[in-house]
Order: sequence, then C-alpha cells, then structure tokens
Amino acid sequence: MFVVMTVGASEAEILGVKSRILAEGLTPFDHVGEERTVIAVVGEIGSRRPALLEEFARLPGVGSVTPISRPYKLVSREFHPEDTVIRVLDAVIGDGSLTVMAGPCSVESKEQLFETADAVKAAGATILRGGAFKPRTSPYSFQGLGVQGLRYLAEARERTGLPVITEVMEPNQVDIVAEYADVLQIGTRNMQNYSLLRDVGRVARPVMLKRGYGATVEEWLMAAEYIVSSGNPNVILCERGIRTFETFTRNTMDLAAVPVINHLTHLPVIIDPSHATGKRWLVKPLAVGGVAVGADGIMVEVHPHPDDALSDAEQQLDFEGFREMMAAVLPVHEQVRGLYGPGA
Ligand code: PEP
Ligand code: MN
Repeated sequence: MFVVMTVGASEAEILGVKSRILAEGLTPFDHVGEERTVIAVVGEIGSRRPALLEEFARLPGVGSVTPISRPYKLVSREFHPEDTVIRVLDAVIGDGSLTVMAGPCSVESKEQLFETADAVKAAGATILRGGAFKPRTSPYSFQGLGVQGLRYLAEARERTGLPVITEVMEPNQVDIVAEYADVLQIGTRNMQNYSLLRDVGRVARPVMLKRGYGATVEEWLMAAEYIVSSGNPNVILCERGIRTFETFTRNTMDLAAVPVINHLTHLPVIIDPSHATGKRWLVKPLAVGGVAVGADGIMVEVHPHPDDALSDAEQQLDFEGFREMMAAVLPVHEQVRGLYGPGA
C-alpha cells in the first residue's frame, strides 16, 4: 500500500508514519515528489491490510492510503510519477536526451577497445560498452578477458571521458566489476538471478537490467523491484528482444514494450537492436524504430572489423555503419522529443 502524505506534511509527521510502519515489521520507502511525499509500505501485509489501511489513514499528516494491486511498487509510476533521471559522469539517462551506448560485444584487446572507443565517441556515443565476462551459449566459445578486460575498459574511460558499462554475471564478481565500471549490466540470462539482483542493489552504481528473453513485462519489472528494494534506485531497463516462434531474427524485438514500460514505470528504457535482431543490416531500422516509440536510448555493438569478432560477429556494426545509424537516429529523436511525456 501507499501512504500519501498531505501537501504540507511536516518532517516529524513523515517520520511518525515511517516509525509506525517499522513497528509493524514492514519497510517504508519514501518518495519526495514535486508536490507531496508518498511512502510505500513494503513487506508481507497479509490479513492485516484492512486494519492497517484504517490505522495509517488516521496518522497526522496522512492524506490518503491506497491499497495497490500491482506486485511491483517502488518502480511503479503510482509511487514515483516523475521520470527517474540517472547521472553517470557526464552522461544523463532519462532526461529526454538520447543515450547511446556503443562498443564491442567483447573486449578483445586494448587496441580493439581503444580504436572502437575513439570512433564511437567521435560519432556521438555517450557511454562505452564492452563485455569482459561473457555469458556464452557454448562453453567452448570465447569467454571474455575477465579482469584484464575491466582494466582496459577503465583505461578507455580515462582516454575518452566516456563512462563504461559491462556485464556482471555472478554475485562474487559484483565488487570487482563495480570497482572498474560505471554502470553494471545484468544480462538476459540472469534477469531472474535473485541473489545477483540483490547484490547489485547494494552497490553505488547504476544497473542496466536486460529483459529476460522469456520474461513478461511484469516479471521484468519485478526483477527491477529486487534491485530498487535492495537500496539502488538507479535502474535502467533494456529491451533486447524476446524468444518467439520466429527464427529469421535472433530474437523478436518487442517495440511495444517501450511505451508499456514508459507507462508503468518511471525508470528509463533503452533498446538493444543488436541482440534483438542478430543481423547487422537490421540494427539501423530497429534503432530508429525504438527511438521513434520513445526509448531513452540505444545500445549497439560496434567493432573495428566485425567479421573477425570473437563474439556476435554477424550483428556488430563497423564504424561507418555506426555513423550511418547515428545519422538516421538523431533526427528521429529530435522529432519525437516531447511527444511522449511521463507516463504517456
Ligand atoms: C551483451 O549485451 O553483451 C549481452 C550478452 O546481451 P544479452 O544479455 O542481452 O544477450
Ligand atoms: Mn553480444
């Protein structure tokens, strides 16, 4: 349930409500909105619901108490009507600007990463991506450079000024990845790895949560709720395609998920047309499509020589392809900017 405070509620009244919630063995999360503070009551309320609804409503400073039917609370628009805006170094995500995350699927060498970082930055990327720990379908495929890859990413940040995003696959990697990276990525295969979600919820780094390839929007938002309720409000959602009966594309990009997410939650949403399609020539049109339907940004794979890439060779763009994609996407972003307000 949400306890909605009156417009002029005092600090003491807000504290009073929070300590009453704690006394019930429940956890209060408050959101100080533009007008009023809303306190989400999180925990197993069970049969106490009707009594608590009445009791909380009588506390000083309380305007109303609303039972909510959605299973996710902290990530919902009801709790937090304004868009969440995330700042990481000079990049701002979710403020209406276009976030462009670009870089190789895997960090393969210092030279490969630096060359790509320079090229994507020059073409307008705002965040550098690159996998150091790689979740590969085959145990015989290249598994990434690990910690050495993280070091190269940190050096590429020094060189370009771009914040870096990379995947963390296991709870025991969270600290080391957070030491080197600016944004932690949770991959599609780990969207429901709840211990990993809780662990990234405890670090002071934004997290990009990719949609599980077999997950519904609600399951995806519940996964985000794990991270936010563990203490990390800075979550970015990434639609990267879901598995359907279609086999021509690697996955099926769920473009409708973008406005759905914008409607249901205040968290920013990014689209990844590289993994969604698996084909280089489909990246530009789907990037344009994602931006047109209101995504806050895109993540695309870029490699100096895509055909020689150690992972995802078929879907990585070369530098010219990336520049062409940017030239197509930027005017579309200008056109739709302002078209979709919060919750639209
Ligand atoms: C990636 O972005 O490097 C990746 C492995 O993506 P996904 O988890 O969406 O397959
Ligand atoms: Mn990849």
